[in-house]
Amino acid sequence: MFMCSVEKKLERKNKLPSFYKRYVDDTLALVRDHSDATDLLTTLNEAHPSIQFTIEAATNNRLPFIGMEIIKIDHRLETRVYRKKTYKGLLLHFQSNVDSTYKRSLPRSMLDRAKRLSSTPEFLSQEYKNLKGIFLKLKYPEKLIDSAINRVHHPPDLIHTPSDSPIWIIMPYKDQKSADVVRKQLRYLGRKIDHELQPIFTSKKIVDDLRETELKPPIVNQQSVVFEFKCDLCGTNYIGYTRRHLHQRVEEHKHSVIGKHLKDEHNVRPSSLRENFTILKKCRSKLECLIFEMLYIRKKRPKLNTQADSIR
Ligand SMILES: [Zn+2]
Repeated sequence: MFMCSVEKKLERKNKLPSFYKRYVDDTLALVRDHSDATDLLTTLNEAHPSIQFTIEAATNNRLPFIGMEIIKIDHRLETRVYRKKTYKGLLLHFQSNVDSTYKRSLPRSMLDRAKRLSSTPEFLSQEYKNLKGIFLKLKYPEKLIDSAINRVHHPPDLIHTPSDSPIWIIMPYKDQKSADVVRKQLRYLGRKIDHELQPIFTSKKIVDDLRETELKPPIVNQQSVVFEFKCDLCGTNYIGYTRRHLHQRVEEHKHSVIGKHLKDEHNVRPSSLRENFTILKKCRSKLECLIFEMLYIRKKRPKLNTQADSIR
């Protein structure tokens, strides 16, 4: 937050370069030459007494930046996964005593990160190879690694692939009239997403459902969206929906599963998370939110969504 206000001031005075990106305390900037870089460093450090930046210039047209390497080739910039020379491949061993779901998801999340960080097919296949080597050393079965590669490289596209089996949606049963309305709405939505949606009516939850709607703020203050959070340190993602303004939800997430992930996995305090959130779908009703949230969870298989989260 503090850096943001300093940056805004500098931007107003036109003192920031045209390309300037910061993640927590790592900043990436594009400048013409070494003297411009030194000037920028001076400007930043003079902006406030408590700011103390250091500079790292590209060597041999290569520059590491938060887990990736930016490489200048002719007039293009390419990226790939960056590993320190001292990297020893210390990751969870397949025979270690932890829940097997974690061991199964680790290769996938590392491969997924490789896919995001590699800007060319060559870098990507090189990184797949590197990771396969690392996981083989850690005694992961080759079949598991290959299937993870396959899955990351060809993700199932469920939203656009019509499938024979309908998606069942559990709904509270109020009366026949509203059940018919729901069926009609689901048919309409189903046509839009090219997937058959079928309600399953249950009766016991209806009291809770009604109480919940009474407590909700008026509809004018709501913004129904399905959103995705993406951790830019490891590519882990989370999908959810909110019927309020997304920024309100972002604030809350600092204390939730997302905040916990940042703290536990990367030892960073969540500060400005807004850029890590994208809106996947604007919806008109809670029903639409629920359906699209579920579809996106099926499609993208976000790593931070637990089973309990996705079943409502
Ligand atoms: Zn992460």
